[in-house]
Amino acid sequence: MKVWGAHGEFCARHQWEVIVATLALLACAASVERHGTGARSERCAGWARACPGLEAEYQAADAVVMTFVRCAALLYAYYQVSNLQKIASKYLLILAGIFSTFASFIFTSALASLFWNELASIKDAPFLFLLVADVARGARMAKAGWSAGEDQGKRVGKALSLLGPTATLDTLLAVLLVGVGGLSGVPRLEHMCTFACLALLVDYLVFVTFYPACLSLVADFASGRKEMSPDSPFSEEDLKPNPVVQRVKMIMAAGLLCVHLTSRWPWTRDHGMIEGSLTDGFKSTNHENVLFHSYVKWFSVSADYIVIATLLCALIIKFIFFEEQRNWVIDMNDLTVKEVIHNSSSNKKIFSIGDEDLKTDTCTQTDSALSLDETEWPSLSPSSSFSRLNSKKRPMAECLEIYRSEGICTSLSDEEVVMLVEQSHIPMHTLETVLNDPLRGVRLRRKIISTRFETEAAIKKLPYLNYDYSKVMNACCENVIGYVGIPVGYAGPLVVDGKAYMIPMATTEGALVASTNRGAKAIGTRGVTSVVEDIGMTRAPAVKLPNVVRAHECRQWLDNKDNYAMIKTAFDSTSRFARLQEVHIGVDGATLYLRFRATTGDAMGMNMVSKGAENALKVLKTYFPDMEVISLSGNYCSDKKAASINWVKGRGKRVVCETTISAENLKKIFKTDAKTLTRCNKIKNLSGSALAGSIGGNNAHAANMVTAIFIATGQDPAQNVTSSSCSTSMEICGENRDDLYVTCTMPCLEVGTVGGGTVLSGQGACLEILGVKGAAVRPAENSARLASLICATVLAGELSLMAALVNSDLVKSHMRHNRSAVNVQGSTNSVSDLVQPQIRHNISTLNVPGVANGMTLKVPNL
Ligand code: NAP
Repeated sequence: MKVWGAHGEFCARHQWEVIVATLALLACAASVERHGTGARSERCAGWARACPGLEAEYQAADAVVMTFVRCAALLYAYYQVSNLQKIASKYLLILAGIFSTFASFIFTSALASLFWNELASIKDAPFLFLLVADVARGARMAKAGWSAGEDQGKRVGKALSLLGPTATLDTLLAVLLVGVGGLSGVPRLEHMCTFACLALLVDYLVFVTFYPACLSLVADFASGRKEMSPDSPFSEEDLKPNPVVQRVKMIMAAGLLCVHLTSRWPWTRDHGMIEGSLTDGFKSTNHENVLFHSYVKWFSVSADYIVIATLLCALIIKFIFFEEQRNWVIDMNDLTVKEVIHNSSSNKKIFSIGDEDLKTDTCTQTDSALSLDETEWPSLSPSSSFSRLNSKKRPMAECLEIYRSEGICTSLSDEEVVMLVEQSHIPMHTLETVLNDPLRGVRLRRKIISTRFETEAAIKKLPYLNYDYSKVMNACCENVIGYVGIPVGYAGPLVVDGKAYMIPMATTEGALVASTNRGAKAIGTRGVTSVVEDIGMTRAPAVKLPNVVRAHECRQWLDNKDNYAMIKTAFDSTSRFARLQEVHIGVDGATLYLRFRATTGDAMGMNMVSKGAENALKVLKTYFPDMEVISLSGNYCSDKKAASINWVKGRGKRVVCETTISAENLKKIFKTDAKTLTRCNKIKNLSGSALAGSIGGNNAHAANMVTAIFIATGQDPAQNVTSSSCSTSMEICGENRDDLYVTCTMPCLEVGTVGGGTVLSGQGACLEILGVKGAAVRPAENSARLASLICATVLAGELSLMAALVNSDLVKSHMRHNRSAVNVQGSTNSVSDLVQPQIRHNISTLNVPGVANGMTLKVPNL
């Protein structure tokens, strides 16, 4: 092991030397004059001469064999490449595997042409090579070599120390095995086997020298680039061989070695005799099966190329159109079924390793299909695969007995589980739990719903694969049947408090990201300055006292400092982060609205505050047993409803942002000036909103930016109602009174970087882009930063839309960004012909003069 490690490290550290030396050897080999090939040819041709009458038939048989070999090679190569996704999903690793194979092929061909003329002329050499090459081995090495975090040389060395001995044994075994073909006496088979042995040896040599060197070189170039890292970290366990398999291989190798020794040793065999007897044997077979040979000849000659061409076409079509589907099936099924077949009898441990592998695969699969033919729904747990092997559907009573005794359904087949759900023995919403497999639960729910509501075609279009449902379960969604993808764009760089950010925005409203981006550009390096205040999250239960006097007493009791401390202790005891700040009381007759306000660290805090409020009420009730809790939420909070209490007192984070846009930028980027913008701001955002009686609506379209960032970063999207409250203010400023001073004030931004949807991987990634993922060292630091970034983005968006409005650019830009070619194409008909009546009711439309006859244009809510 140490020697292998040192060797691998040596190759990795002396990349150039190893590569150049190998290439030089190749060049030498290619330039050396051939000799001795004639004798070999002569020897190989001996067999054919020994049986002249059968030449045509053997050619036919040869064609059949070769067709089989070619097909097998193609399928095996396809299987190998597909299977690489089990090692890592990156195409990069697939390329690495193919590169090592390709390099080996070149070297093998060169050597073959040097030593044996007839070998070089083997037209099936590429097919043969596909059969013997181990692409996965190269990819495994690449995965190990590219794993970040350690010195590349050491890592490649370590990888080779683990893979090297196995590769040696594998190669030895394969050479001995394939070498048996060389004893057949059939010239073509002998050629092929010799070539295959050579290919195996060269592939092995390339793998232990040239390949690690190239790998290390590429890794050196790519160091620091994150995308070069494979999905999952390199684990030595991945590369460690199974000791049992190793021992079996060694025994096989020893046996085969004996076969070779006894067959090839000059004094143990009389070649002439054997050749003669072989020839006789073939002759008699030939005479007895003339009809058969003729048929084979006819069939093979005509079918040879057709079979190969058909297979190749089928594979190409499959790769292009159905690859992702099949990849999944191969990835999941193949591994699982194999594990079950090989280990079901005794080895439980390996079974559980398979389980882990599958879990990893489920999480790291990123390139597979979004939707899948329901008839080929893959199974994702060993137990479910196991059950699939057990194809016979058991009777209901037996299934129910299994379910009841085990408490879970992992040993039941899909059909059996569906049967139990249909018979109401398993509630549909518990599928993930009883199956102990979230993806299988989602898949079966889709299946059941498809049948029950006859929505199969529609549900098939809803993606469900490649999603980590374990994070969704009991956290983000119930009765899951898939997910909806929303495009994420970025606006930026947006400089906030001296730092540049790329702001991820998830939206389906064309022009929104582009417009915000324009705002960020106008803000430029001057940037936005922000101030954030952690107001805290609120929950206001409604409690009823028997009369107004008791209500008043209760209110006074809470105003007492010591009593409040008692309530606060009860509240704070429910969380490590929630800290009660105030109980603000609203009165309506004998009903009190106790608005608990608490800081909640980096979480948005709605659940935390509800939990705290509930506990505080329990303590209050001990002092006021006649108090009735009407509702834990009395709408005085106020959550997800526009309310002036939030506008006035704040909720979540209160953020104020400011910036100044130079007259030059106003002119260059916005094609307007400060005076025009301030005028429009006053008339639209102040007077217009006041006239409309809006609460917190003194802005152009803050909700657009808020919602897009909320969705991207896993916030509660419904809280955009309160969170979008914003006052946009504009003033003329500067020495020449031609610059624009802008502020955005958002008193109730309800955001968090912990909990809720922030745990999901895509949303987490967007938070990571902003550098605010998870809990900060100082509680609330990340959530406060997120709030200030949202407010700064709102400011950028406000500026851009205001400029578009004063320039009457709004319609133009939406026509450009909001209308895809698909929407516009063929819209010569009036909209009434194109839009379903009920849909028409749901969209706000505006007749735009100058647009195609009768067409109406959808405009965003401003
Ligand atoms: P949560 O996920 O329910 O709670 C946050 C969890 O994170 C708590 O267990 C907290 O610990 C823990 N935590 C770890 N580190 C933290 C840190 N640095 N700062 C804060 N907490 C930390 O999240 P939530 O914000 O309270 O609630 C958000 C969810 O509530 C969203 O899914 C939202 O859709 C939903 N929601 C609920 C209501 C409602 O009425 N209940 C209303 C609107 C929305 P502790 O256990 O020690 O607190």
